[in-house]
Amino acid sequence: MRLTCGLLVLLLPCLAVADWYQREEAVMGTRIAVELWSDDPALAARALDSVMEEMRRTDELMSTYRPESQLSEVNAHGFERAVAVDPEIIEVVQRALEFSRLTGGAFDITYASVGFLYDFRERHRPSPVEIRERLDSVDYRQVEVDPERRTIRFRRSGMRIDLGGIAKGYAVDRSISILRRLGIEHAMVTAGGDTRLLGDRRGQPWIVGIRDPRSDGSMVMRMPLENEAISTSGDYERYFEQDGVRYHHILVPGTGESARELRSVTIIGPDATQTDGLSTSVFVLGVERGMALVAGLPDVEAVIVDREGRIYYSDGLAQPGGR
Ligand code: ADP
Ligand code: MG
Repeated sequence: MRLTCGLLVLLLPCLAVADWYQREEAVMGTRIAVELWSDDPALAARALDSVMEEMRRTDELMSTYRPESQLSEVNAHGFERAVAVDPEIIEVVQRALEFSRLTGGAFDITYASVGFLYDFRERHRPSPVEIRERLDSVDYRQVEVDPERRTIRFRRSGMRIDLGGIAKGYAVDRSISILRRLGIEHAMVTAGGDTRLLGDRRGQPWIVGIRDPRSDGSMVMRMPLENEAISTSGDYERYFEQDGVRYHHILVPGTGESARELRSVTIIGPDATQTDGLSTSVFVLGVERGMALVAGLPDVEAVIVDREGRIYYSDGLAQPGGR
C-alpha cells in the first residue's frame, strides 16, 4: 500500500493510494487483456502474472495447434483407447456436451472431425466429397467421458474434438476466480471475444462495446455492465472469401459448412464459459431458434446481427427498464 502522508498527517488520516493496473499479451492465438484495481502494487503484479500464467496453462492443455497438448493426444488416440486427461479438460468437455444437448447438436466439439480440413489463413477448404466422407464422425453422442477415471474415448474412427468454441470463456472464468481469491474486487479479463467483469469500475459500470461486424473500429452498441460475462462470435475473425462466398470458422455440424445466417452474436450472462458456448451455439442456430433458446435461459440476453445487418435484441434488452 502506498501512503501519502506528511504534514497533512496531523490534519487527515493517511490516504491509501490505489491504482488501475493492466496488461495485454498474445496467448491462445488471441489477445488477452486484464485490467484491475488494487492499492497494493506487488499484489497487482502477482495477480496479472497469475492470470497470464493460467491462460498459457489452458492453452498448453487444450490447444489443437500444439501436437504435445493433452487434447492433441485425445485426437490422435481417442478411438484406439481411453486417453487420460487433466480434470479441467473433463470439465470443459462435459460443459461442451451439455451445450450440445441444449442446442440439439448445433454446438458440437466433434465439428472438428471436418473442421480440421479448413485452413482459414491458407484459404483452404475441403471439397464436398471430403466433407461427406467425414460427416459421420461429427456426433457429440459418440464422445465417452469417464469422470471417475478421467478419460475420454471416441466411439467412431476419424473423430476429433476442438474446444475453440468454449475454452477461452472457461479460461476467463478461472482467471476471475484467481483474482477473487487474491482479494481483487474490481477487474476485467478478456480473451479474444470473451470478457468477464468482476464488480463494477469503482462506482461506475464497465462500458463494453459490441463491434460492428462489417466495420473495424465502429460499434453496434455500448452496454453498461457489472459482474457479468459477455461473449461475441462473428464471421469476421477467421475467414476468407471465394467467389463471393464467405468461409469462416463457425461450422454447422450437420453440413460441415460455415453458418451463414448471421454476422455476429453477442451473449451476456453470469459466466464466460456459458456466454462463450452460447454465442457459438446461437451463431449456428440463427435468429429464430437462437432467440428462443436465450428466452428460456435465466439471466441470459443476446444481441444478434443478421446477414443483412439487421439487429435483434432479446426480450430483457428490448424492454424499457431492461438492462
Ligand atoms: P472465437 O474463437 O473467435 O472467440 P467463438 O467463440 O464463436 O469465436 O468460437 C469459434 C470456434 O469454435 C471456432 O474457431 C471453432 O474452434 C469452434 N467451433 C466452430 N464451430 C463449432 C460448433 N458448431 N460447435 C462447437 N464449436 C465450434
Ligand atoms: Mg464461443
